[in-house]
Amino acid sequence: MSDPTVPSLEAFAQGKLAELEAASLRRRLRLTVRAAGAAAERDGRSLVSFSCNDYLGLANDPRVIAAAQDALARYGAGAGGSRLVTGNHPLLDALEARLARHKGKEAALVFGSGYLANLGITPALVGPRDLVLADALSHSCLWAGARVSGAEVVRFRHNDLADLRRLLDRHRGRAKRALILTERVFSMDGDRAPLPELLALAEEFDAWTLVDDAHGLGVVEAGARAPLEMGTLSKSLGSYGGYVCASRAVVDLLMSRARSFVYTTGLPPASAAAALAALEILEAEPERAARPLALARRLTARLGLPEAESAVVPVLVGDAEGALALSGALEERGFLVVAIRPPTVPAGTARLRIALSAAHTEAQVDALAEAVREELRGQRSVRSSRDLAP
Ligand SMILES: *Cc1c(COP(=O)(O)O)cnc(C)c1O
Repeated sequence: MSDPTVPSLEAFAQGKLAELEAASLRRRLRLTVRAAGAAAERDGRSLVSFSCNDYLGLANDPRVIAAAQDALARYGAGAGGSRLVTGNHPLLDALEARLARHKGKEAALVFGSGYLANLGITPALVGPRDLVLADALSHSCLWAGARVSGAEVVRFRHNDLADLRRLLDRHRGRAKRALILTERVFSMDGDRAPLPELLALAEEFDAWTLVDDAHGLGVVEAGARAPLEMGTLSKSLGSYGGYVCASRAVVDLLMSRARSFVYTTGLPPASAAAALAALEILEAEPERAARPLALARRLTARLGLPEAESAVVPVLVGDAEGALALSGALEERGFLVVAIRPPTVPAGTARLRIALSAAHTEAQVDALAEAVREELRGQRSVRSSRDLAP
């Protein structure tokens, strides 16, 4: 029975939290101050962070900071309105032109974040009576956009083109339009979509493809381009915001129809200036862009894992509790490597997600590999002893 002295909202929140706590799925915020050189300060200690998506170390680059400071001093802190009203700063125009050129597309559109981009793109292109086919490991915001669209949403097995073909065969006929959602680099697994083959299959069925390049830009450049390429300014570009690159007509349509673009405030000029400066550095310094993948491969070789395909290296643990324990043990040793638990990843696949950056040194990567190997030996005995319990 409910306790009449506890308001129902409180009782609901407390009950849910207790459930999450019991399943090792409660999330907590930890105060963290990031600094140059992949450093992160927590609880008065300086850790080497392997948990940031700042793959090129540009968030703390003096040139990026100076560009943002200059824009801040000249133009103020905020955009002041939607881009369709008064929030369309010339820096956004310059950034879009640069993004489009970088991606070899006619046009680009900058959103408030990558999440907002995905929440707006899919519903602007498909609706009821249409079909969305999404890779099973697609990011939460791709699913959110698909759901909001009202289209029939079907998931295909991760990177499985035979499954995608089977589903297109079965569902494409009764849908007016079809959109395939996938990622160039999968955020929690670090593997890549088979894009040339997937794009050919899409074309065969007259389906459009939206590729989420959040973890590819600046790290894995080569490869086929989809008709719709979206991404974020908040990872390798070290700033904040999201974008989509496409043909002029598609971008113009999104500008008028994507509600998460129309009904929200434009990106602050300083964020646009930072992203623009970072994009220029990314293009001018290919040796920097090559570093995260090279370091990821160094790490997978040392851990005896399959060769890294991106800057993201997962170390599977299985249960959420074990992943949290391993993360905690690494923090004791001076490494920040967060545990990723369901529902971010499928049940039973809790893991450490290690993100490499151009800011890491080889010595830091080697030290992390050594620490992970030692801790995994300890963890395994803990897990197996519990498995033996009745
Ligand atoms: C981070 C991420 C996003 C969201 O980007 P934000 O700019 O952080 O909102 C979208 N898709 C994927 C795959 C991501 O990893």
